[in-house]
Amino acid sequence: MAEWIQGTVADNIHWTENLYSLKIDADVEPFVAGQFTSLALEIDGERIARPYSFLSAPGQNPLEFFFYTATGGVLSNAMLDLEAGDSIWLKKKANGFFTLSEVPSSKDLWMFGTGTGIAPFFSILKTEELWERFENVILVHGVRTNADLRYQELIENIRHDQPERFQFKAFVTREDAAGAYRGRITSAIADGNLESLCGINLSPENSQIMLCGNPDMVKDTVAVLKERGFKKNLRRTPGQITVENYW
Ligand SMILES: Cc1cc2nc3c(=O)[nH]c(=O)nc-3n(C[C@H](O)[C@H](O)[C@H](O)COP(=O)(O)OP(=O)(O)OC[C@H]3O[C@@H](n4cnc5c(N)ncnc54)[C@H](O)[C@@H]3O)c2cc1C
Repeated sequence: MAEWIQGTVADNIHWTENLYSLKIDADVEPFVAGQFTSLALEIDGERIARPYSFLSAPGQNPLEFFFYTATGGVLSNAMLDLEAGDSIWLKKKANGFFTLSEVPSSKDLWMFGTGTGIAPFFSILKTEELWERFENVILVHGVRTNADLRYQELIENIRHDQPERFQFKAFVTREDAAGAYRGRITSAIADGNLESLCGINLSPENSQIMLCGNPDMVKDTVAVLKERGFKKNLRRTPGQITVENYW
């Protein structure tokens, strides 16, 4: 069992009614971008723990996490009330295989995230390994409303640093939003719109795909990609699709 340590909340940023980020000072062991740790609070005498992806890059201080308040969700709603100076439990050692070391090299890396499932990509985007191993990186974020599109400044910074090699596309399902496309990521892959927008083809020869967040999005996207000849990436049989389901 990994050791629990106490961290101190440095900031709690409420983006919308349902979205917030915590910055936490904690002495966790070094982790790899894309991994997650567990966070926990004592609620009614019981330690309630859930896994959360690091949004911050390895070595970055404070640590940062991005949350959605799940309807009726115990921990995500409890953490919403935390203030600077409050304590929170974290597992000292990180976990998970949603990391670049698990992704075969290719020309293009596509990152598809829904909601807070964009978090691990921000950690990965800050690593040197990403830019050493892939020529083009396309980050695609699927959300319900325009207000759910957070961390635009961070995205702008990456665009500024990698103007030729980095693209960001946002898909909003429930309303029209400036600078974003209306609809689902899955449909935009199926009808070829995403490739047209990016000017890059999705092909098993040139593309690796990382998918994170809502399991329905992950399942539907995997199904669409499999029709195009893509395969799940397994340790023994490398393919092109690497996934992280949030529930
Ligand atoms: C590897 C991994 C990494 C994760 N990283 C993150 C993260 O960075 N940010 C984050 O917000 N969540 C993340 N999650 C989900 C998180 O662990 C919890 O499930 C979530 O916060 C709900 O916990 P809860 O106690 O509030 O509600 P629970 O009662 O445990 O869950 C209630 C329901 O909420 C829904 N749900 C769970 N997570 C989400 C979500 N992110 N967005 C929308 N609906 C959701 C599901 O339907 C779930 O059954 C991750 C999960 C895994 C497995």
